[in-house]
Amino acid sequence: MTSTIAEALRFRPGATVAGLDTSATPGFDGAKADAAPVQAARSERLAELQEMLYASSKGADDHRSVLLVLQGMDAAGKGGIVKHVVGAVNPMGVRYTAFGKPTPEELEHDFLWRIRRALPPPGHIGVFDRSHYEDVLIVRVRNLVPPEVWGARYDEINAFERELVDSGTTLVKVAMFISLEEQKEQLLERLDDPTKYWKYNPGDVDERLLWPQYQEAYQAVLDRTSTDYAPWHVVPADRRWYSRLAITELLIDALEGLDLSYPAADFDVATERRRLLDS
Ligand code: ATP
Ligand code: MG
Repeated sequence: MTSTIAEALRFRPGATVAGLDTSATPGFDGAKADAAPVQAARSERLAELQEMLYASSKGADDHRSVLLVLQGMDAAGKGGIVKHVVGAVNPMGVRYTAFGKPTPEELEHDFLWRIRRALPPPGHIGVFDRSHYEDVLIVRVRNLVPPEVWGARYDEINAFERELVDSGTTLVKVAMFISLEEQKEQLLERLDDPTKYWKYNPGDVDERLLWPQYQEAYQAVLDRTSTDYAPWHVVPADRRWYSRLAITELLIDALEGLDLSYPAADFDVATERRRLLDS
């Protein structure tokens, strides 16, 4: 039932951000209460696969890794994915990076400079909370560099991701979409609760006013950077229980595709048992 979620979310050429039902639950026809036990079981499965990925890198010459790229407008639920989905696995095997406004040092380099430095080591799941895609999203919408500069980045990103895939990294690219109305609700909740003030950023309202421009920029990202080696997944995210289950499934799908196994012992088990018992 749930592996159809991954299938249903894959971006299909011609699909439009504007036409997306952000409250839909593609591939899952149950309600929140039905999802809870499924989520628990699938989180366990994810943790098991992550352990195998980690273990594989301790074996001979296995350099594989997984990179989860999370994109979405403010309050789309990226933080919840990190807390609840990534939080279900052993932090030892996770390399998490949030990408905010570039520092002066970062701005002195090519836009992929800080991205390359944050790539997951072999055996790890890298998590990008925002990513190199900001360089064709906010940068495009806000005219932070000339059009010919951001315009060239789609191809540069594709070439970069090709390189990653060729070196053993499986990309799981996820664009989370909420409705304008749902974003308002979420941001209001932050203002209604003093323990959530820290999550509120007055600048989010300014970005919110540019919603159509962001939709257009997201559409261009999907159209130009969804490749067969690194496809995008479009996740309706008004229902948080769904987006969590969906992204759990996407990670499981990627990890199962690696056909992982625990590395064989590089010592003689019987001999070691004897030595240990005699010690
Ligand atoms: P939350 O969703 O919880 O608010 P956040 O991801 O928005 O978290 P913030 O530190 O509030 O985290 O914001 C990061 C900001 O940095 C975003 O507005 C994002 O668009 C911006 N940003 C990220 N990368 C770039 C970039 N390359 N150039 C300019 N701005 C960027
Ligand atoms: Mg923010």
